[in-house]
Amino acid sequence: MVTAANRGWRTATVSGVRRPIARAVQLRLDVHDRVDHLPGQHYVVRLTAPDGYTAQRSYSVASAPGDPLVELFVERLDDGEVSTHLADVVERGDELEVRGPIGGWFVWDQVSPALLVAGGSGVVPFVSMLRTARALGRTDLLRIAVSARTREELPYADELEEAGALVVLTREANGIRPAGRLTAADLVPLWEPGQTAYVCGSSGFAEAAGQFLVELGVDPAAIRVERFGPSGGPA
Ligand SMILES: Cc1cc2nc3c(=O)[nH]c(=O)nc-3n(C[C@H](O)[C@H](O)[C@H](O)COP(=O)(O)OP(=O)(O)OC[C@H]3O[C@@H](n4cnc5c(N)ncnc54)[C@H](O)[C@@H]3O)c2cc1C
Repeated sequence: MVTAANRGWRTATVSGVRRPIARAVQLRLDVHDRVDHLPGQHYVVRLTAPDGYTAQRSYSVASAPGDPLVELFVERLDDGEVSTHLADVVERGDELEVRGPIGGWFVWDQVSPALLVAGGSGVVPFVSMLRTARALGRTDLLRIAVSARTREELPYADELEEAGALVVLTREANGIRPAGRLTAADLVPLWEPGQTAYVCGSSGFAEAAGQFLVELGVDPAAIRVERFGPSGGPA
């Protein structure tokens, strides 16, 4: 099958660079010859050093398909090869090599009810789904639960709270809720029969949240998981 991904690498011009929270960067990219993504899909970004050495990593799209620019949100890992470059070095007007959009499984079909459960930067593909739902006037289809260490570290916190997301903070209280991890009980009021559940975050978070959903009786076939683990590989 010919997909946008295997049509190869293309150039993206960096149109905007923002640092809405510490240790992260939001990049707005003008992808040349772009194919519209589906909410939940990601791009691969490839960096090439002057000696020809390359490194590539996957980044989910935060923008809705109707946005003229592709928005990525990258959490800076202190010892990270690619995230440090994107967070510290990339400036407006730079060009990046990208490939995508990629992914057919972790995609919201825009008509079915969905339960979205994210840890940390795992919220990024869900922001795309939320923005898409808003554009369609169908935010009623989405239920969202997100976990972060502190509110300051939660990407897109305002947007998620406005959408009614349950926000769980592990290092500080959130209103009357004391600091603590997401539990299966948190998901009970959000889960409805017929939903597809999407889980996104670190491997540990994805494992735990997936397990909670199974305990609640969600059919494993209706659970889709994206792990933001190491994603490097040969260029
Ligand atoms: C489909 C997919 C979508 C993704 N979307 C996003 C996104 O929207 N935003 C985002 O910030 N990241 C996202 N990631 C993770 C991203 O691809 C990189 O893995 C991450 O940016 C680290 O790359 P790096 O080169 O900076 O670190 P590396 O040099 O690869 O690794 C540095 C150190 O950090 C560890 N490490 C690597 N990745 C992670 C991680 N994700 N969490 C914790 N430790 C890690 C490594 O084991 C190593 O010890 C996604 C991953 C996948 C597979």
